[in-house]
Amino acid sequence: MDPALAHLGEFGLIGLIRQRIQERTAGTIRGIGDDAAVLAPDPGTALLVTTDMLLEGIHFQSGWGLPRELGRKALAVNVSDIAAMGGRPLHALLGLAIPLGGIGLAELETLLLGFEEEAAAHGVTLVGGDTCASASGLVLSVTLLGRAPREGPVLRSGAKPGDSLWVTGTLGGSAAGLLALERGFRPGQGWPAGLARPDWLGQQEAAAIQAALAAHLTPVPRVAAGQALAGKATAMIDVSDGIASDAGHLCTESGVAVRLQASRIPVHPGTSVLARLFGQEALDLALRGGEDYELLFATGLDPVRCLAEAAPALPVTCIGEVIAGPPVLTLVHSQDREEILTGGFDHFTGLHPHGASGG
Ligand code: ADP
Ligand code: MG
Repeated sequence: MDPALAHLGEFGLIGLIRQRIQERTAGTIRGIGDDAAVLAPDPGTALLVTTDMLLEGIHFQSGWGLPRELGRKALAVNVSDIAAMGGRPLHALLGLAIPLGGIGLAELETLLLGFEEEAAAHGVTLVGGDTCASASGLVLSVTLLGRAPREGPVLRSGAKPGDSLWVTGTLGGSAAGLLALERGFRPGQGWPAGLARPDWLGQQEAAAIQAALAAHLTPVPRVAAGQALAGKATAMIDVSDGIASDAGHLCTESGVAVRLQASRIPVHPGTSVLARLFGQEALDLALRGGEDYELLFATGLDPVRCLAEAAPALPVTCIGEVIAGPPVLTLVHSQDREEILTGGFDHFTGLHPHGASGG
């Protein structure tokens, strides 16, 4: 790869695009720089628009999951960006690039079934797209439109000193699931041939591995939680590249510093098991793994009761504080040990454990 591009990194390139473009259209409330663009062509109603691709060989390998799961995930990762604005997903467009000699009609139909299942779960209608042949792998490119909440979209840029930082669900499950897929685990199947099973790994641990596979293959976007947080969270982002990266975006866009407490990071149970099995750091997978599609948000209020009503089965954890200062993300391990937290997934520098894929 061009060393200049590698040096710039994925987010550097997005920054360069952001500097070069000119705003020509009235009604662009928020363009580049958030989970979704916020557009208000007519005053009073704000539309959210987001797009995310899944590429064979980059985001997934053929044979790892089922085409149905891939169809679900292609939409789910976009729904997650609308959720991160506190919005409601509405209409989708599906771009399909199909390798000739690769996937067959039956698999494509199953993929579409998965896409439709996810669409039904969120009340989304597929209204268009584009279809062509691919010279390499399968490409799924989804664009999703949504409605902003009445209270106004929750941007990445509103976090204030004195707010607390919270995250829904658990982290690191998706990265651990990817690690498991790479080492031969498959959903619903037994122990991989050729891999020694340690004595400490019982049924509970095996179930946690299956949960990590599911976290990677079929992430669940937190739409109800996102909507409940509209008007309550001052800033929000979905965790697609790992909180080491995504909490950093929140700091930068809000112009604040964040201190995260390492001991409070909610680690997915499968992450602890797979990290132990493969000699990895569970906390590292939780911070830098990505693709968890949980919501990371800042608020000055206690969100526990409102989230318990909107999403009763979803845990939510306070993991840090927003403070005044330059946009630096600090991870506090103990009273006398802390580090500046960097990393997370970057598509160009590949900064990520095991070269895995982020959003
Ligand atoms: P997310 O992980 O929430 O999907 P990204 O990190 O992919 O967000 O993108 C960050 C911001 O940069 C978003 O506003 C996105 O729309 C914008 N962006 C990414 N790639 C491009 C591009 N090629 N051209 C214009 N904007 C882009
Ligand atoms: Mg996002």
